[in-house]
Amino acid sequence: MADYDTIFIGSGFACSFFLRKRLQRSPDSARFLVLERGPLVQHPDQVANRRNSPVEAQSTFRVDTPKGVETDKLWQFNIGFGGSSNCWWGGSPRMLPNDFQIMTRYGVGRDWPVSYEDLAPYYTEVEQVMQIAGSVATPFPDRPPYPLPGHRMTDPDRALQATYPDHYFNQPTARASRPTDTRGQCCANGVCHLCPVDAKFTIQNGMRDVYDDPRVTLMTDAQALSVDVQAGVAQGVIYAHAGREERATSDAVVLGANAIFNPYLLLRSGLTDGPVGQRLHEQGSFRAHVYLDGMSGFQGSSSITGHGYMLYDGEHRREAGAALIEGWNVPRFRLDHGRWTERTELYVIVEDLPKDEDTVSIDPEDETRPVVRYSGHGDYFMRGVQRVKNELEKVLAPLPVERIDYMPLNQSEAHNQGTTAMGDDPATSVVDRDLVHHKVRNLHVLGNSTFPTGAPANPTLTTTALATRAAEVMG
Ligand SMILES: Cc1cc2nc3c(=O)[nH]c(=O)nc-3n(C[C@H](O)[C@H](O)[C@H](O)COP(=O)(O)OP(=O)(O)OC[C@H]3O[C@@H](n4cnc5c(N)ncnc54)[C@H](O)[C@@H]3O)c2cc1C
Ligand code: SF4
Repeated sequence: MADYDTIFIGSGFACSFFLRKRLQRSPDSARFLVLERGPLVQHPDQVANRRNSPVEAQSTFRVDTPKGVETDKLWQFNIGFGGSSNCWWGGSPRMLPNDFQIMTRYGVGRDWPVSYEDLAPYYTEVEQVMQIAGSVATPFPDRPPYPLPGHRMTDPDRALQATYPDHYFNQPTARASRPTDTRGQCCANGVCHLCPVDAKFTIQNGMRDVYDDPRVTLMTDAQALSVDVQAGVAQGVIYAHAGREERATSDAVVLGANAIFNPYLLLRSGLTDGPVGQRLHEQGSFRAHVYLDGMSGFQGSSSITGHGYMLYDGEHRREAGAALIEGWNVPRFRLDHGRWTERTELYVIVEDLPKDEDTVSIDPEDETRPVVRYSGHGDYFMRGVQRVKNELEKVLAPLPVERIDYMPLNQSEAHNQGTTAMGDDPATSVVDRDLVHHKVRNLHVLGNSTFPTGAPANPTLTTTALATRAAEVMG
C-alpha cells in the first residue's frame, strides 16, 4: 500500500486550491502529503523581517540570455509556504471569453482547450474563497455579485468610468474592502507585496482549514527532486529534507511548483514528451504618469482601484497585443507646490505571444537547478505597447491631462507562464484539458505553466479556477 493517496509538490495557489477541492470529495481515511521547498514564515515574522521568505528566489535558477539579445528581464516568485500568495498584489480579473479563443477570433496564438463557459462556475467558486472585492458592473459574462463591495475609486477613475461605462470598472481584487473573518481591511498604503495589515488573501490567512485538516501532512523545507515514474505510472516523489534524500509513495502526484520548476521537475523525472519547457512567456508592462490640471487623484481605498478595457479586446489583436489599464492609487505625488495631488498613475499590462525558443531546461552546468533562456518580448507585444502610446491621449480625453510621462518597460510582470501548456494534442501540449499529463495519467500539472497563450489579465484567478475544475472532474 502506498504511503499517501496523493503527494503535492508546492503549497502555492495551484496546489492549495486543488487540495481544498479533493478534501471535500475524499473520505476520512484519505492521506495527502504536501512537500514545500521553502519554510513556513508566519505573517507577523514576514512583516518584522520585511521579507516574505529567507530563500533568495533568484538563486534557485540560472538565466542564460541568448547571444545578441539585450534584456534585463527578471523572473519573480516566492519560495516558501503559500508560494507567491505571500507577495502577490491581489489583482483578480477573469479572462475574457475571447482570450480563450484567440486563434479562432484573431488568427494568432493558440486557442485554449477550455472555454470561458467551462470555467465560469469555478471562477465564481474561487472568487468566494478569496473574498474578492469588486463592483456589480464588470466585463465578465455570467457572474454573480462579488462577495465584497468594490473599493472606492479615485476621481480620475470616476471620470473615466462616466465616459466608458462598458469599459472602465473597479479592479476586482483580493485586497479586502472590509474586514473578513481572517483579514483586515485594506488601507491603501500600497506595499502589497508584504501587506502590513494582512488585508490581501494569502494561502496562510485564507486556507488554514485546508492545512489544519487531519488528512493533510505539510512538510516544509522539503524539496521535490523528481517524480518517481515507473512503467508510465507515478509511484511517488523523491525529495530532499533535513539533509537527506527520501522517497514517499503515493497513488497520484500533483505538481504545482510554478512555471520555472514544473518543466524542470518533469525533465528531471524523465518526462521529456511534448513541448515541455518551451513557450515561457508573460505579459510586459509600463507605467504612465499622468499630470492633471485642476483634478486630484488619490481618493481611492486601495492601491489599485480602476480597470480599463478600452484598449483590450478587438480586431487589433490580429496585429498587436491587447492592453489592460490599471488605475493606481498608491500615494506617489507630483513635486509642484500646491499641486501635489494633481496626478494619477496608470499601469498598462500588454499581452505577448509565446515563442517556442523561450525555454526552461536542466542547467548543463549544474543539474540541480533550471536554466532559463529568453529572447525578449516579441514584436506583437512591442506593437501593442506602441498602440497604447498612440492612443492613450485620446482615451484619456475625459481627464484634464497636462502631460503624460511614459516610464521604461518594467523588468518583470511576475506572471511566469506557458512551459507545460494544456491542449488536446500531445505533440503540441504537455497536459490535457483536465491538467492531467498526457502520458502519466496519475500525474496532474497545475499553475500558470499550463497556459497555452497569455492574455493581459493577471493569471491567478484563472489558475485557481483551473485547479478547482481539475480536482472536481476527477470525481
Ligand atoms: C510580486 C508579485 C506580484 C504578483 N501580483 C499578482 C496579482 O496582482 N495578480 C495575479 O493574478 N497574480 C499576481 N502574481 C502572480 C501569482 O503570484 C502567481 O500567478 C501564482 O502565485 C501562481 O501560483 P502557483 O501555485 O502556480 O505558484 P506559486 O505561488 O509560485 O507556488 C509554487 C510553490 O511551489 C514551491 N516549490 C517550488 N519548487 C519546489 C520543489 N522542488 N519542491 C517543493 N516545492 C516547490 C514554491 O516554494 C512555492 O511555494 C504576482 C507575483 C509576484 C511575484
Ligand atoms: S494597499 Fe496596503 S492594506 Fe491594502 S493590500 Fe496593499 S499593503 Fe495591504
